[in-house]
Amino acid sequence: MEMLKGKVAVITGGTRGIGYATVRTYLENGAKVALFGSRKETVDKALEELKSENASWEVMGLWPSLTDYAEVEKAINEVKAHFGKIDVLVNNAGVSARESLYEYDPAAFQKTMDINVTAVFNTSRAVAPIMKAEGGGSILNTSSMVSRHGQPAGVAYPTSKFAVNGITISLARELAKDNIRVNAVAPGVTRTDMVSALPQEMQERISAGIPIGRMCEPQDIANAFLFLASDMAAYITGAVLPVDGAATV
Ligand code: NAD
Repeated sequence: MEMLKGKVAVITGGTRGIGYATVRTYLENGAKVALFGSRKETVDKALEELKSENASWEVMGLWPSLTDYAEVEKAINEVKAHFGKIDVLVNNAGVSARESLYEYDPAAFQKTMDINVTAVFNTSRAVAPIMKAEGGGSILNTSSMVSRHGQPAGVAYPTSKFAVNGITISLARELAKDNIRVNAVAPGVTRTDMVSALPQEMQERISAGIPIGRMCEPQDIANAFLFLASDMAAYITGAVLPVDGAATV
């Protein structure tokens, strides 16, 4: 079943990891997709890979600076001009942090907040008027398990993800009257490049500490984003859905 047949989606950070898995899953389910990345080279590589997998998939790529509102607005308008509408926005781009508070560079704190929070505001601000004019849409944000219990270093990261939950819940309330649903997914430890690079023994230790007995795969998150974007989730808005194998319960 093509759960997103006829829908147009914008997915930030779509060149690798969770974002790339979501782009593929949306295309497989009949959506047209605009993926946003940070550089032309990585965007081109992702587009090439996707096209070689299925030449009929309708996918385009752009690389606006997500922290610059004017660039984001221009890119969103380009997607609207290209595909004619925008039904779904997936805010997936994000960076993690590990610094100790005692050595924290204030500029690094701000940078994490800019990418993980301000960028979510920017894309939502640019896309909401388009969705409203079209009678509705779905905005999906990427939170984290750390938005439930924090983490013992890199304070900007959990701070930013608590803020993502705040944007999600607040915009859900504000935009419900325009039929725009706003939800978030809160992944547990997910096997993307960063995790795969850890020694095997450390990966096994992480998996053993998760009640379900394995790490989250990017596809697990893509599946949650698929359901929440689909019409099957028509009455779900303001939710922050943990997808973490019971790691936080
Ligand atoms: P990743 O590092 O593999 O991918 C991150 C994506 O964000 C990349 O496509 C990158 O290009 C993009 N990005 C980063 N900075 C950017 C910028 N300044 N401008 C534009 N794009 C930028 O990470 P991932 O693990 O796939 O993470 C995706 C999302 O999931 C993030 O929001 C992350 O916080 C969240 N998350 C990940 C995990 C995990 O364990 N991997 C757990 C919880 C939440």
